[in-house]
Amino acid sequence: MNGSARNTAEAIRAVLADFPHPPRALVQSFGCQLNFCDGEKYKGILADLGYELTEDPEQADVILYNACAVRAHAESRVIGRLGALKPLKERNPRLVIGLCGCMAEEDEVRALLRRSYPYVSLVLGAGAMERLPQALLAAYQGQKHTEEGLGFSGLPDESLPTVRDGAFQASVPVMYGCNNFCTYCIVPYVRGRERSRTPEAIENEVRELVRSGCREILLLGQNVNSYGRGLSEEISFPALLRRLDAIDGDYFIRFMSSHPKDATEELIDTMLASRHIEHHLHLPVQSGSDAVLKAMNRHYTAEKYLSLIDYARSKSADFAFSSDLIVGFPTETDADFQQTLSLIRRVRYDNLYTFIYSPRSGTPAAEMEQVSTEEEISGRMRVLLETQREITERCNQDFIGRETVMLAEKYDAEKGMLTGRTRACRNAAVKGHPELVGQFVRVRITGAKSWALTGEAVREKE
Ligand code: SAM
Ligand code: SF4
Repeated sequence: MNGSARNTAEAIRAVLADFPHPPRALVQSFGCQLNFCDGEKYKGILADLGYELTEDPEQADVILYNACAVRAHAESRVIGRLGALKPLKERNPRLVIGLCGCMAEEDEVRALLRRSYPYVSLVLGAGAMERLPQALLAAYQGQKHTEEGLGFSGLPDESLPTVRDGAFQASVPVMYGCNNFCTYCIVPYVRGRERSRTPEAIENEVRELVRSGCREILLLGQNVNSYGRGLSEEISFPALLRRLDAIDGDYFIRFMSSHPKDATEELIDTMLASRHIEHHLHLPVQSGSDAVLKAMNRHYTAEKYLSLIDYARSKSADFAFSSDLIVGFPTETDADFQQTLSLIRRVRYDNLYTFIYSPRSGTPAAEMEQVSTEEEISGRMRVLLETQREITERCNQDFIGRETVMLAEKYDAEKGMLTGRTRACRNAAVKGHPELVGQFVRVRITGAKSWALTGEAVREKE
C-alpha cells in the first residue's frame, strides 16, 4: 500500500470511529464467476477498512452491488434492486450505496443512475477494486456522485486482501479482459483488453490455497487459452497448468472458459497426464451452425469444434464436456437451430448453459435484423432444454454401478444426503455423513436423474 492509499484508509477509519455501532458492509455480486471473484476482493478491502460483513441490507452502512452487463434482463433486475434501497437511504442518510462491476462501465446505466437514482452515490469501474477506498472517502466527504476507476485496464494489485466465499473451494483469476469481440458480447467493451497475471503470482496463490486446505481451485479467464500472451516471458496455458499441477496436495483444478478457436490437443493431453486437473472441459460452442458462428465472429466451424471433442474422447471415454449456447441470435433460422440440436446430440454434453440472445447496445449484433419472432425463439429454447435434459439423463445412466470420487460440498440433514461434483464435474447426490463435507469421498453410483448422479458414499479417498 502506498502513502496516499494509507492516508485514504486512515481517513475512512476516522469517519467510521464516529459511528454509533460497528460499521457494516454488504457486497452482493451478480453474473459470472469472475464477478464473484472480484466481489471477494471488495469484501476484503471493506473488512480491512474495519467494516463487518453482513448479508442484511437493513443492517448495512455500505451496500455495493457488483453487477454484470452481459444480459439486459439481469441488469434490469439490479436496477429494480437499487430502486428498492431508496427507503433504506431515507432512514439512514449515512448509508452509502454503490454500483460496481461491468454494469457500471455502461454510459447509459450511469446516466440513468444520475437521473433517477441520485442516492446511488458511488460508481466504480469494472475490476478497479483498489479505487474503492477513494470513492468511499469522497462519499463520506459529502460528494453526491463519485465515479472512480472507469475504463480500468490494469491488473489488480496482488496484495489486495480477499475474503473468500467458500471454505474449501476458491476461484483464482489467471487473466482479465477479452480480445475476441464476439459480435453479441459486451465483455470486451466493459472489461478491456486481455492482460495476464504472472505465472509466479498464480502459482503462489494456488500453493497458499492448497496449504490452507482448499480442495477445488477454479482458474478463471474469458479465454484461458490465450493466457500468457503479452507477458515479458510468454507462457502458454497448458504450460501454466503443468506448473500448477506440480504443486503437491489433495486438490482438483478446474478452469473456464476455453474459446474453441484456441483450445488444442496439447490442452487435452496436459489435462489427461495431470494429477490434479479435472477431466472436464467447458467449451462454449454458442451455435451448431457455421453461418451463425461466422456472424458471431467465433472463428471456428462445427466440424473443427467436433474434432477436438472426438480427440478427447478417443483418449478417454470419461472426459466430460459442458457448453454455453445462445438461442435466437439475430441471423439464426430454424434450419440453423436444427444444426445446433444435431451438434448437442452428437457431443452429448454433461451440462449446458443456455441463453436467449439479449441485444447489447454498441455491439455489432445489436445492429443486425432479427429474423425470428419471440415465439419461435422461446419454442427453440423449450426444445433445446428438453433435448439436453434427455441427454444428461442418458449420460448419467451410463454411470450406474460404477464408483467415482466426489468433492462433498453440502449436507442436507433432512434427507441425509451429501451433494457435490465428481472429478469430471458431474453433479452427484449421495447418502453420507455431514463430517464428509469438504472431503473427497469415494461414491458408488446407483441411480441417475437428469440433474445428478445418485448413490452412496463408500469411503474417503486414500
Ligand atoms: N468468455 C466466455 C466464452 O467465450 O465462452 C464467456 C463469457 S460470457 C460472460 C458467458 C456466456 O454468456 C457466453 O458464453 C454466451 O453464451 C453468453 N452471452 C454473452 N453475451 C450474450 C448476449 N448478448 N445474449 C445472450 N447470451 C450472451
Ligand atoms: Fe464475450 Fe466472446 Fe470474449 Fe467470451 S470470448 S467474453 S463471449 S467476446
